[in-house]
Amino acid sequence: PGVRGLAPYEPGKPIEALRREYGVEEVIKLASNENPLGPSPRASEAAAAAVQEGHRYPDGNGFELRHAIAERHGIDPQRVTLGNGSNDVLALVAQTFLGPGRCAVFSAHAFAVYPIVTQAVGAEARVVPALAADHPAQPRGHDLEAMAAATDDTVQVVFVANPNNPTGTWVGAEALRRFLDAVPARTLAVVDEAYFEYAVEEADYPDASRWLDDYPNLIVTRSFSKVHGLGGLRAGYALSHPAVAELMNRVRQPFNCSGPAQAAAAASLADAEHLERSVALNTEQRALLRRGLEELGFVPLPSAGNFLTFDAGARAAELNEGLLRSGVIVRPVDAYDLPGHLRVSVGTPTENRTFLAALSRQLHGGA
Ligand code: PMP
Repeated sequence: PGVRGLAPYEPGKPIEALRREYGVEEVIKLASNENPLGPSPRASEAAAAAVQEGHRYPDGNGFELRHAIAERHGIDPQRVTLGNGSNDVLALVAQTFLGPGRCAVFSAHAFAVYPIVTQAVGAEARVVPALAADHPAQPRGHDLEAMAAATDDTVQVVFVANPNNPTGTWVGAEALRRFLDAVPARTLAVVDEAYFEYAVEEADYPDASRWLDDYPNLIVTRSFSKVHGLGGLRAGYALSHPAVAELMNRVRQPFNCSGPAQAAAAASLADAEHLERSVALNTEQRALLRRGLEELGFVPLPSAGNFLTFDAGARAAELNEGLLRSGVIVRPVDAYDLPGHLRVSVGTPTENRTFLAALSRQLHGGA
């Protein structure tokens, strides 16, 4: 029954699909929060070398990558669970700890994979209303107090996206600690930090991975798809108490993270310069994109990620269609209970200018 009630996840339109459907040659994809600079050259080289060994199964326990991740966080490798992207890790949490008669809590407008993995295993999803659209600091953000109140002893898992996709909103260290203090000890608190590297620029943005010793029920998830630019290779991970990791590793498919993905992820962790460059570009371009949208009359939600979401109003579908016809792919996020909202990923300066010009043409006409 849970599966029958699910709506499939709608990913960003693939570039090739747009070329075929609309006959446009030049396509700009700002729909999946990808790093416009691509991966670190060191990661690409490592992946290519691993492909030469593609006839061999990868290390099913991900020894090197888990050790590299553990070293990065200053923790024991036994706390690390690898995933085929962090979506895989979220699914592992659900497969391991949820099921019929069990319950997960998350916010309205939260990342779409939480309801999917919850319902897919027959568990109940308890959706907590988000902060108001006119909240002064975090419009449509997670209401952590209401989420804590909803997370009673009957709840096995609570998901917090920090920052959240598609709203871009985030929670600060103090509020998150208060929330974790309020969550029952037997309930697992998943803090999804897929956009962590972009968000560390915000004052008071927490690195929840430092709190693993304080909260044995804490699971922090990270992704290699965003700032590391490895979305196509699929690698992500969870950090948790070793006992929680040990349970998830019983359920995990042994070769869930491919050889090239493991090699590229480890190489990317070692290229701090590429990450810095990527974050700096995002911070600069996100501000320009925001200003450009404001000049066109839109009010993007505050975002600590590599994307901006804005209410495009009654003309949203028409604007999106017009953008597609001009070769620009953005993401309508109606399915997140945000009707009329579009999400645009931060691209290169040229991509962002092209997007703003195309949107302006849709609004005002002209060549
Ligand atoms: N969490 C959030 C909040 C996301 O936006 C995404 C990517 N859309 C993911 C997790 C999963 O990313 P991946 O599976 O590529 O690591």
